[in-house]
Amino acid sequence: MTGTRLQGERLTAGYEGHRVLSEVDFRVEDGRVTVLLGPNGSGKSTLLKTLARTLAPERGQVLLDGKDIHHSRTRDVARKLGILPQGPSAPEGVTVRELVCLGRFPYQHLWRQWSSEDERAVVDAMATANVAQFADRPIDDLSGGQRQRCWIAMVLAQETDLILLDEPTTFLDLKVQVDLLELLVRLAHDKGRTLLVVLHDLNLAAAYADVLVMMREGRIEHGGTPETVFTATHLKQVFDLDAHVIRDPHTQRLVCVPTLAGSTTSTRIDVGLAHHAPTTMIPP
Ligand code: ADP
Repeated sequence: MTGTRLQGERLTAGYEGHRVLSEVDFRVEDGRVTVLLGPNGSGKSTLLKTLARTLAPERGQVLLDGKDIHHSRTRDVARKLGILPQGPSAPEGVTVRELVCLGRFPYQHLWRQWSSEDERAVVDAMATANVAQFADRPIDDLSGGQRQRCWIAMVLAQETDLILLDEPTTFLDLKVQVDLLELLVRLAHDKGRTLLVVLHDLNLAAAYADVLVMMREGRIEHGGTPETVFTATHLKQVFDLDAHVIRDPHTQRLVCVPTLAGSTTSTRIDVGLAHHAPTTMIPP
């Protein structure tokens, strides 16, 4: 267990007349990729927004470096924590470079204008997210995957140790999703950043999470390594999904294979992985 700079304590939160989280305790492990998984409407975005200070909890508190985030100044929080909400939208006609520059807002003051440090951060962020070649193009002209990388570059330009991302890979090609997740893992493992990511793809979540957290009906049901959390029993309980969890023989990563009505276990596994070495079944 590593340390934690960001944690929620007994969070009760939701929207007018609709409570979503009830007494949720949550610690984000420093320098790791934590992935939140759960069915639609289970409260993942609500938890992310509450932890990012976007949504004030009804009760409980979010501590960032020991200080209540909802009683901290926006600029102070924004220098430590960046968030990419679900489906962000940019002002019309804005170029990639202009969008990425917005990530520097926590460092701008009336008396401190654009600096060489801001410039370096923007150039670095565009290079890391591989969008430098689009710098002068309007963001609206890009494909979904390219656009998503630009948003990630904007968050990277903020140069925060903590980065919260809500479904950053939705609607992207699988290859683009994998590239993006590889980038996020490198940020955590090579650069010591802390990432909290909501994902909807179960197998990508199991493959890339250091810590996997499953939510259902506004509660945290399971949290820990994919080894302990990504089990057939938990997938059934949390997603009502009938599936086997197997180990990919090449990468040793866990993979869930939904059960097809009317087929037997051996048929499913043999057909799915016919060209690979024998597959290890993980007990439920
Ligand atoms: P998830 O991210 O797991 O899909 P959410 O946190 O977005 O779940 O939503 C949890 C519940 O809160 C859902 O029932 C959803 O309809 C409701 N909800 C989400 N956002 C709002 C909102 N802005 N106003 C009212 N209800 C909302």
